[in-house]
Parts: sequence; structure tokens; C-alpha cells
Amino acid sequence: MSYQVIVIGGGPSGLMAAIAAAEQGVKTLLIDKGKKLGTKLAISGGGRCNVTNRLPEEEVIKHIPGNGRFLYSPFSIFNNYDIIDFFENLGVALKEEDHGRMFPISNKAKDVVNALLNRLDELDVDVRKSTPVEAVHYGKDSHTVILKTGEKVLSKSIVLAVGGKAVPHTGSTGDGYAWAKKAGHTITDLFPTEVPLLSNDSFIKDKSLQGLSLRDVGVSVLNQKKKKIVTHTMDMLFTHFGVSGPAVLRCSQFVVKELMKGHKPVILEIDCLPDIKEETLIAELKELAANEPKKTFRNLIKGKLPERLLDYLLEFVGISPNEKSANISNEQIRQLSHAMKHFTINIDGSQPIEKAFVTGGGVSIKEIVPSTMQSKLMNRLYFCGEILDIHGYTGGYNITSAMVTGRVAGMHAAYEAMG
Ligand SMILES: Cc1cc2nc3c(=O)[nH]c(=O)nc-3n(C[C@H](O)[C@H](O)[C@H](O)COP(=O)(O)OP(=O)(O)OC[C@H]3O[C@@H](n4cnc5c(N)ncnc54)[C@H](O)[C@@H]3O)c2cc1C
Repeated sequence: MSYQVIVIGGGPSGLMAAIAAAEQGVKTLLIDKGKKLGTKLAISGGGRCNVTNRLPEEEVIKHIPGNGRFLYSPFSIFNNYDIIDFFENLGVALKEEDHGRMFPISNKAKDVVNALLNRLDELDVDVRKSTPVEAVHYGKDSHTVILKTGEKVLSKSIVLAVGGKAVPHTGSTGDGYAWAKKAGHTITDLFPTEVPLLSNDSFIKDKSLQGLSLRDVGVSVLNQKKKKIVTHTMDMLFTHFGVSGPAVLRCSQFVVKELMKGHKPVILEIDCLPDIKEETLIAELKELAANEPKKTFRNLIKGKLPERLLDYLLEFVGISPNEKSANISNEQIRQLSHAMKHFTINIDGSQPIEKAFVTGGGVSIKEIVPSTMQSKLMNRLYFCGEILDIHGYTGGYNITSAMVTGRVAGMHAAYEAMG
């Protein structure tokens, strides 16, 4: 059996690659080891399928801190707005939610996946599910895909779209790295990104803040010199092992990179009141205390922070919960304001890559032609999606990267196979 294009992996990148190849009229096979295709795509965005993001291209690239700039070239061929048009043309109406995130109006992930499957069907793409690929042999005129059953399938072009190592029960178990290495490719260090972080701080160990979520706080990662590497103002959550939530997930890759350099612990600094300057906060608290000297200080400032956090910080700076405002010194107010603006958490690790949303690292982008997604080292070998050393924040950015690189890889795999 032989094909012009074989796409290995039926995630967003592989589905898009197979469609793009078949649209050029070439005989295309899509192989996936799972019983279903697009499993991870379907669970994205809280199970409603975060198809893409509507922010301007420049912004999308900014939200892909792991080599997003590589995508300028593929984006010039097919970008996030083309993804939106693509789905609308397939009859999947999309809607925009917060931060530009795009979802099917139906809120049903299966509408997105089914639209892709129907398109494969329309284009007569051969699809083999429950078919794990064991190895890939590269040849001068054609490449050979070796299935776990021992069966060999020949193809002019091959697209590797098998994803990374995160959440392996969806099928992405990192099988493609060995096949890339065999073609001479470098695999940069793999690490978890968009991942919850671990801490041994006493308030984590004694669970005093467990389950507490903070809204719109500024979370910063500090380097060894206590300088901020990055800040994200979003929600966060204290868990039984450390911290999680959108702001923490976004910061996590910067923490993990510091940990990889041997810097431990890494300090996360939480600004619990990012909209107010520290000096203004001090003045406000002083005024509150001066106006109501007979009242309990804690009750006076209760609305400022969630009570559990406030109680923790009051104890941290040594203010008793029953203390009258008249007895609170300016120094204590200064310390409390500082703690509210610079609450620190020592991070010792992250959950493993298997529990991360996204894999950091992968096939080095230096060895890939960005306008075609072809390997610079092996003719008619193409890469797309999370197997590449490209990683973004959740919010549709990884899926956009997967679909855009998939589209370009599939198209060019077909062109070369025809040539
Ligand atoms: C819970 C969760 C939520 C997410 N939410 C978001 C989000 O909101 N926004 C966002 O941008 N990103 C999100 N992501 C990340 C995003 O889903 C992935 O980046 C994206 O799916 C990667 O696409 P891909 O095609 O490269 O690989 P995958 O989707 O991982 O697909 C790879 C496919 O290859 C197949 N495969 C692997 N090995 C073999 C083999 N040996 N033989 C045959 N087939 C094989 C697998 O079965 C799988 O179907 C989320 C991820 C998770 C886990």
C-alpha cells in the first residue's frame, strides 16, 4: 500500500494537515493510535473546544512565549482568522469569549471534531484509527511507516503530528521525538508548561489557604536577583500542594525554566491589590484606622481581601484579629500593606509533564523551514503542532499554532509529493 502523503497523529495539527494535503488532490492517509481523533482538541477550553483566538496576529504571537515568532511565516499563509473562516465554511458557527477565545456557539466540542472528520471524509482521506505507528524509515524516493502490527506503508511525504508528552491518556506519549532524532533532528529539553506549581511553605503544608481563589491578582516570577521576569494579572488558586489557576499556569513555564537552571526555590510574588499603589494603600489604611480608633482594625479593612487571606496576612505581620485600630502602629500598617502587595510563595517544583496542559521544548525550530514546515535535514518530512519546540499559553494559542503549522505542512507535503 502506498500514499503520496501520510499524516501520523490525528490531533488539531494532523487533522488540518491531512485536510490541506487532500485538498491538493493527493492520496492521503491519516493514522492515529487512538480510538477517536482530536481527543485533546475536544477537551481543550474546559471541554468546549477552544478552537482558536481572535486577537490580532501580533497579540497571538505574544501569547506564544515559546518561539511564537517562528509562526510569522506560517501565519502569512494561514492565520487565526483563516481558522475562523475555515470552521464557518464547514458550518461550525463560532463565538468570541473573554480574551479573544473562540468556541463553537453550540458549546459542543464534538461539533468541531465532527466537522473536521466530515471534511476528511468528503476529501476521501483514508483514516486508520487504533493504529499505533512503531517507527518511520526514511528513504531517498519514499519513506516507510511501520505499524505496530508490523505492516509497512509507503509514502512520498510524511507529516509528523503526534503532539508532545502532556496528558498522555489522550494519545500524546512523545513517540515522535525518536522518529525526529532518527532524521537527524535536535530535540530541545522537554519540560512541563501551563502546569500547577508545588510549594512547601507552611501555609500550603498546614492547608490554611487551601481552596482559596484570588481574583485578578498580579502574579510575578522573581529571578535570583529578585527582579520580576514576568507578571500575569489574572485569577489564582491555593491548592493542597501549592498554587494553580490561570495566572499561575501562565507563569509556570518561567518558574520551570528557573528550576531547570538549578535556582531553587523560585519566588512567586503576589500583588493582591494590583490596582492600588503601595503608598496609597498605606495612606488609606492609616486614614481608616485614624477615623475609627475604637473599632477592631480587622473589621475595618475586611473588604480589602478575602477573609482567609487577610487573617493569614494579619497574623504574618503580628496584628491580633481583635486589636483596636487605635493600637495599630504606622509601622504595622506599612508592613501589612507591603505583605498585601508583595506576598511571596516559595516554589520548589511543578507537577510533572504528564499533568501539564502543554509540553515545552521539542523538535528544534532551527531545523524546520517556516514557510513550508519541511525538515531542513530530511526531504519530504514535515512537522506540525506540539511536537515542535513551540508552546503558548492556554486560550487557543497552542491550538492555533497546531492548526496553522498543520495547514502549511499538509499543503507543502502534497506539493512535494506531486512534484
Ligand atoms: C486538558 C487540556 C486543555 C487544553 N486547553 C487548551 C486551550 O484551551 N487552548 C490551547 O491553545 N491549548 C490547549 N491545550 C493544548 C492543546 O490541546 C494542544 O497543544 C494541541 O492539542 C496539540 O495538538 P497536536 O495536533 O500537536 O497534538 P495532539 O492533540 O496531542 O494529537 C496528537 C495525536 O497523535 C496521536 N499519536 C501519538 N503517538 C502516536 C503513534 N505512535 N501512532 C499513531 N498516532 C499517535 C495521538 O493519539 C493524538 O491523537 C490543552 C491541553 C489539555 C491537555
